[in-house]
Amino acid sequence: MSTEISVDQLREFAIRYVDEEPDRLGIDGWWQTPLLTAAPIDARFDQLPRIAADDHLHPRDLLPTAKSVIVFYLPFIKALVKENKKGPWPCRNWGVAYVQTNDLIERLGQALSNFLLENGFKSGLTPATHNFNEDKLMARWSHKHLAYLLNLGRFGVNHLLITPVGCTGRLGSFVSEVELGDHPLIETEEACLLKAGKECGKCIAACPVDALTKDDFDRRRCWDRLNETRRVLDYFSDLPESTDVCGKCAALVPCSFKNPVAVLK
Ligand code: SF4
Ligand code: SF4
Repeated sequence: MSTEISVDQLREFAIRYVDEEPDRLGIDGWWQTPLLTAAPIDARFDQLPRIAADDHLHPRDLLPTAKSVIVFYLPFIKALVKENKKGPWPCRNWGVAYVQTNDLIERLGQALSNFLLENGFKSGLTPATHNFNEDKLMARWSHKHLAYLLNLGRFGVNHLLITPVGCTGRLGSFVSEVELGDHPLIETEEACLLKAGKECGKCIAACPVDALTKDDFDRRRCWDRLNETRRVLDYFSDLPESTDVCGKCAALVPCSFKNPVAVLK
C-alpha cells in the first residue's frame, strides 16, 4: 500500500539529513541548506541523448515503473569556497569536501529511496560520479542535465548549473515510482550574466588552463587538469584516486552563491 508523499516532505527529509551529517562524521560540515526538486517523467527527457551524451540513459532505464525524477543540490559553505579561491590549485579541504560529498550524495539518495520504499514506492539510483565514458568525457547519467531539465538551474559559461543559490555545490539524482508533480525552481531564462548579455567572464579569467571561452568549453583540457591535481598535490596523496577536482571557475564569482541575473531584475 502506498501513502501520499509530497516534494516538501522529501525536501524536509534532505534538509534534516544534511543537517545531521557533521555530527555523523564528527566534523564541522561543508554544506549549506540543500535544494530538492522533482518532475514527472515526460517527453522532456527524450532530449537527453541530444543535450547530454548520445548514450545517456532514459530515467525509465533505471526503473521501468518510475514516474518521477528527483534531483537534489548540496551547496558548499562560503568559507570553503573562499579558501579554494586562492592560487591555481585546489586547497586540501576542497578535495576532502569532494570525497565526503560524494559519500553524502550516495547515502542521501539511498536514505530518500528507503523513505519512499517505506511508503510503498520503489526507486532507481546511480553512483554520484564516475558513471561516465572517459573517451567522450560525458556521463551516461548526468545529474547536471537532469537538474537542468527539472528547471533547478541554467547553465553558465563555466558549464556548471547556476541554481537560485549558485553553482558552488554538488548534485545528486534518482528516479522513483512516486508522483510528485513539477516543481521548477529557477525563475529567469538565463542565470549566467554573460549569457544574459551582461558584463562578466569572471569564470573564464579564473580557469588556470584556459579551458573556457564565452562560447566554448575545452572538456579535455579541463579533465586533464582535474586528473593532474591528484597526481601533483602532495596534500592530496591520502585522498582517493578519484579526487579529480578544481573548482576555480566557481570560486567567488558572481554566480557562486546566487542567480546573479535574478538579482538584476
Ligand atoms: S562567472 Fe559570470 S560569466 Fe561565468 S558563469 Fe558565472 S555569471 Fe556566467
Ligand atoms: S574546473 Fe578548473 S580546469 Fe575545469 S573549467 Fe573550471 S577552472 Fe577550468
